Amino acid sequence: MIEVKPGIYQLQIPIHNNPLGHTNTYLVRDNDGYLLIDAGWDSKEALQAMKDQLSEIGTGLDLITRIIVTHVHGDHYGLVHTLKNYTDAEIIIHRREKEVLMYRYTAVYETLSDIEESWMRNGAPQNELPMPGLPSRDTHRLQTPVIPDSTVEGGEIISAGDYSLQVIWTPGHAPGHICLYEPTSKILFGGDHVLPVITPNISLLPYAGENPLGEFMDSLKTLDGLDVEIVLPAHENIYYDLHKRIAEITHHHHQRNLEIMNTLKEGPKTAYKISSAITWIPESGGIRYKDLPPMHKRMALLETLAHLKAMLVDGEVKSFTEDDIDYYEIS
Ligand SMILES: [Zn+2]
Ligand SMILES: [Zn+2]
Repeated sequence: MIEVKPGIYQLQIPIHNNPLGHTNTYLVRDNDGYLLIDAGWDSKEALQAMKDQLSEIGTGLDLITRIIVTHVHGDHYGLVHTLKNYTDAEIIIHRREKEVLMYRYTAVYETLSDIEESWMRNGAPQNELPMPGLPSRDTHRLQTPVIPDSTVEGGEIISAGDYSLQVIWTPGHAPGHICLYEPTSKILFGGDHVLPVITPNISLLPYAGENPLGEFMDSLKTLDGLDVEIVLPAHENIYYDLHKRIAEITHHHHQRNLEIMNTLKEGPKTAYKISSAITWIPESGGIRYKDLPPMHKRMALLETLAHLKAMLVDGEVKSFTEDDIDYYEIS
């Protein structure tokens, strides 16, 4: 637990079996309790970590009166389910994340079969299917999500103690991802949108919006216009130079577009063939698609599709369908 600014604490909540290690959640002192930003992964270990760190601050779960969740990925929203047993806190998320909860989590099998169909259309070989099965406990939990009490659209001001948090809608990594900006103290709660080292995964999924990468780049531009002195991200370490980081992430995505354009110079390709031809995880020296673990292969293909969608919208590439398989070529 770190007190980042007077009355703003960072809590580190472990994520089971994940290289990210933990989710940073933030507690803001309010007049009659606390506001929590993001909850963490749902596990006994996570709940204990939350309790321990709250007691270091001299408080407890029952004094959390509001929980704002940046987006509904399991490492942010998961623990809300358990926290509801200890507090009557109002749960607040963006309207589009509520829609994701209702669609993806209540129709989990339909979503999986949509994804499977999409693999075939995009030229993935049979042996890379199907999607991994979900353990039954998780499936049950996903099908009975906690329904949020309130939704935001972006632009709202949420006051907590000495701070006024402005909601900024930053779609891309998730369709209803939000950041919170405190203009007086120049603090940005960045969620997964702007992390200091890794670039967040941007996937074209059935519920991810029309052009998630395009939306992500626009959201970066929105943040670039803010006067920020300290970024409190949901993973990795606190950092200070938001504008430099935005430039790096923008460059990363431009490089990937260039790489895709280069592979298309050889002629039309499926998204699967493009994924196989480009370099993945450049921050760790670069890995070929065939050497990625299965889950990462799926993420890589979905990310390629997000790039192709943005390039279609920008008119850089066009697509055609032959025998139920989609191909891309340079416009
Ligand atoms: Zn996320
Ligand atoms: Zn996350």
